[in-house]
Amino acid sequence: MAQKLDPWKSSEISDYSKLFDEFGIQPFAEVLDEIPNPHKYMRRGIIFGHRGYDMIADAIKNQKQFVVLDGFMPTGKAHFGHKMVMDQIVWYQKQGGIAVIGIADREAHAVRDLTWEECKRIGVEEYITSLIALGLQPENARIYFQSECQPVKDLAFELGTKVNFSEMAAIYGFSGETHLAHMIAVLTQGADILHSQLPMYEGPIPVVVPVGADQDPHIRLTRDIASKMNMFLIERREDSKTGKSYWSVRGKNAPEDALKEIDKNIRGGFGGAGVSTKLSKEHIDIFGDISEAELSEIVKNAELAHGGYAFMIPASTYHRFMSGLTGGKMSSSIPESNIALSEDPKSAAKKIMKAKTGGRESAEEQRELGGEFDKCSVYELYLFHLTDDDDELIQVQKECTSGSILCGECKKKAAGKMEAFLTDLQQKREEAFEKLPLFSIDYRK
Ligand code: SF4
Repeated sequence: MAQKLDPWKSSEISDYSKLFDEFGIQPFAEVLDEIPNPHKYMRRGIIFGHRGYDMIADAIKNQKQFVVLDGFMPTGKAHFGHKMVMDQIVWYQKQGGIAVIGIADREAHAVRDLTWEECKRIGVEEYITSLIALGLQPENARIYFQSECQPVKDLAFELGTKVNFSEMAAIYGFSGETHLAHMIAVLTQGADILHSQLPMYEGPIPVVVPVGADQDPHIRLTRDIASKMNMFLIERREDSKTGKSYWSVRGKNAPEDALKEIDKNIRGGFGGAGVSTKLSKEHIDIFGDISEAELSEIVKNAELAHGGYAFMIPASTYHRFMSGLTGGKMSSSIPESNIALSEDPKSAAKKIMKAKTGGRESAEEQRELGGEFDKCSVYELYLFHLTDDDDELIQVQKECTSGSILCGECKKKAAGKMEAFLTDLQQKREEAFEKLPLFSIDYRK
């Protein structure tokens, strides 16, 4: 049966590899070697897929500017699933990225019916302070609330000219009963992803959005709208006679002057390197060795000079979800299944001691056969959160499979680590309130 990805009902994804075939997500392993110092989620295969990541790897490697963008819907406690996204934002900032974080209060108001005051309180007390506590720095960071960011709201309206109800219904299953505000919230998410490329912010710039696989519908829609918003579309084509591939830049109703300018700049910059062009009224075909990034820069400059939108198509990465501590999926409605970032450290440790493991029926059996870490929620805590050291992770695996450690002792170690981590994080979350003005957030508890 075909899988359906639904951003509002955290769907269980039975087979991640199917997402490559069914949705066109690319395997992350293909770009891993291009990243100088990959995050542990990348090294460990937790981030398994991407769209358009080459330009981000290139930006990191060659110290070019890029943006990491993510949004948090402020509806409840921030938990370790959210921490995965926060960890990535902090990591990208350390790699030289500009961190842009949207608190999706419009979405929370529309989809979950929360008041604006609740959205603000949850946004700050659960999400923003946790992100700061996990290491977000004020330099090269911008945090905003959707409802307070006029450029995002204006852009959302503009994006609405490029998508109709039938397309939205096909992607999200919207029906005649769906509130219009819900649809506006979808457009606002698209504007979140694209607005950093407006001339008033960074202008055209590579943007990466790290998400769980269930958020791919938003990404696909936004990538599609971005290309429709742009004055020109850049395509890779193949000559039917020679079989050789070439670039084609096409613009529907684009000013002829803009096309001529692109043509001139390509020939001026790359003509000497054997690149040739064929210019017609609506498009230019480009033959020879010019990269997509080089071509894109020339096209974006022409689009901006002629008053058009010039969005680089945003990239995304997709990570696996952790299972719940009780087995099955993690759910906010089952408190025992997850740990909140604001949780009392002792209560978190107790949850781990009761967690589902991959242990055997009896101690004898486990000593003889070893445990099954690949079925164990405690091992997942190690894998995702409790150690940055891959050797330590391998040690946990070895002790488990050899039967040299039993689950009780293994859980105790994990619980101790979690307690220490949360005690430190709570302290940092308190200190984060003092740092809010550095991020231009006006808030008092
Ligand atoms: Fe899980 Fe540890 Fe038990 Fe292995 S020994 S199944 S990793 S709790």
